[in-house]
Amino acid sequence: MKYPAVANYLNGSFVEDTLPALDVYNPSEGRVISRVPLSTHREVDRAVESAREAFPGWSSTPIKERVQVFYRYKAMLEAHLDELAALITEENGKIASEARAEVLKAAELTEFGCSLPQIVPGEVLEVSRGVECRIERFPLGVVAAITPFNFPNMVPNWSIPNAIALGNCLVLKPSELVPLSAGRIAELLREAGLPEGVLQIVHGGREAVEAICDHPGIQAISFVGSTKVAKIVYRRGTATLKRVLALGGAKNHLIVMPDADLDMTASNVVASMSGCAGQRCMAASVMVAVDKTDHIIRCMVEHAQRMVPGRDIGPVISAEAKARIEGYITEAEAGGAEVLVDGRNARVPGREDGYYLGPTIIDRVRPDMRIAQEEVFGPVLVIIRSRDVDEAIAVENASRYGNAASVFTESGGIARYVMERASAGMVGVNVGVPVPREPFSFGGWNESKFGVGDITGRGSIEFWTRSKKMTTKWNREAGVNWMS
Ligand code: NAD
Repeated sequence: MKYPAVANYLNGSFVEDTLPALDVYNPSEGRVISRVPLSTHREVDRAVESAREAFPGWSSTPIKERVQVFYRYKAMLEAHLDELAALITEENGKIASEARAEVLKAAELTEFGCSLPQIVPGEVLEVSRGVECRIERFPLGVVAAITPFNFPNMVPNWSIPNAIALGNCLVLKPSELVPLSAGRIAELLREAGLPEGVLQIVHGGREAVEAICDHPGIQAISFVGSTKVAKIVYRRGTATLKRVLALGGAKNHLIVMPDADLDMTASNVVASMSGCAGQRCMAASVMVAVDKTDHIIRCMVEHAQRMVPGRDIGPVISAEAKARIEGYITEAEAGGAEVLVDGRNARVPGREDGYYLGPTIIDRVRPDMRIAQEEVFGPVLVIIRSRDVDEAIAVENASRYGNAASVFTESGGIARYVMERASAGMVGVNVGVPVPREPFSFGGWNESKFGVGDITGRGSIEFWTRSKKMTTKWNREAGVNWMS
């Protein structure tokens, strides 16, 4: 085995155990590279116990001191960029440039965490003569983050710097498909000076997640993954009165107008649908081509045909994912859609057992087809033709998801019209992947997010803290009034 068996990280140490375990695969080669333990409620109990012990010390450390750990951690993410990126490629399959971008994004998220002391100082006002009201923010206690396979380093870092810098102790449950990066994150944070018990890692799947949802000692859960599981976690976590922010799946629509810039649009749309092998919750999935856009589609086809699996596009996560995605393509073709670029049966010499698919573009898809409605989560773009922008917006609005939407046009009026009407939490103009960068927050609408607030940036402050409203009267002149 290329890597030793993955271990839970409890109270500052990696813990050997005898739990049942799953194989961890390298998706480029279809080879087993490690094993991941399937934790139970007992491991979650232990994690919560030591997080609880660490909480008084960590939460009473001034925030200016807490963030020093993250300044050092950010420098380490950058210093270990190649190594961390290689680990992502190993377990997730991403090509090197995408894996490096992921680590750099994790560093940027940490940079925001470092800036928290500048933006959480609270508010104070003399509300009446001699009477002062102030608001201060306090951490919640022990909190948890449950993460998906598609960003093994970045998505854990959506929650780690902010939740911890704000004074919480965090239990992380990484995806069992990509458990290696989390262990390295824990090592770097330990080296950066994070005290024992402030971060715990409990590996596993459903049983560990259910134990987190049910645990009375956990105050809040951030979840990122599919809509199916987001609903389970939201319902089960809130049933025990926790705060839950659960980000789910996506079906992102790009509306392409006939006046859109040809090269920029074609290259951005193809990059959006094929980047990270289409396994991004912000990936383009449906292009709504308005009126005369054949010239743009032709150019997109040329771009996609130039892409080489293994060089420009990594594998999808598993053999099951590959079969599922190919099934969607075959079903759409049988239903009368026209496959312009076919990524099925991609072969990469020397990596014949890898789970590769080439970029796939399917035209003449009807909005009622399964491939137009469900999340495919692979490098597949379907094209739905529409007569005008209102028809295109109606197609976008009909989706049950609502993570991202973009419009490609040279008209400011059309851009604004679509931005106002798209039913999505993150919208873009001439941007294939409209991820808001910090201090702006990440979060979708509809079935792409359950709960109040957003997961990154300023929005996360409200989620990871509670406010205390304090009213004081020291001045003897304050007299007697209704506040007395
Ligand atoms: P997933 O829902 O299968 O798994 C996510 C987490 O839930 C994992 O930690 C997994 O162990 C756990 N889990 C899986 N099944 C469970 C069950 N039945 N009960 C309890 N826990 C369970 O998601 P995934 O396949 O790892 O990730 C891909 C999905 O994540 C896609 O749908 C993608 O759109 C979504 N995603 C969304 C965002 C966003 O910001 N909205 C970001 C990244 C990924």
